[in-house]
Amino acid sequence: MVKCPNCGIEAPADAPDCAGCGIIFAKFLAQRERERKEAAEFLARAEARPSAAAKNRRGRVAAVVLLLIWCGGLFWYYVDALNELDERVQSDLRARSRASAPAVSPR
Ligand SMILES: [Zn+2]
Repeated sequence: MVKCPNCGIEAPADAPDCAGCGIIFAKFLAQRERERKEAAEFLARAEARPSAAAKNRRGRVAAVVLLLIWCGGLFWYYVDALNELDERVQSDLRARSRASAPAVSPR
């Protein structure tokens, strides 16, 4: 006696099909083997994919870090340039007001 792999009913060992659910054992087992292989292949592909995703993630992280460094450098460059410009404008204004204050009297 063997147990039907589909419904679990006991069938004679030499029976070609199941008396309970009607499946043909050889066909059913071949089908199950094919599905098992497909599932294994699918799993292998699914396992191969995360490493590529991780590589992409590392690349993205590196790109973001580089972008942040670049933006930071640009930011500090402009802050520095603006500070310098501001100082120049301030000293220019001071010099101009010192030069023009005695000549032009306020209304
Ligand atoms: Zn069965």
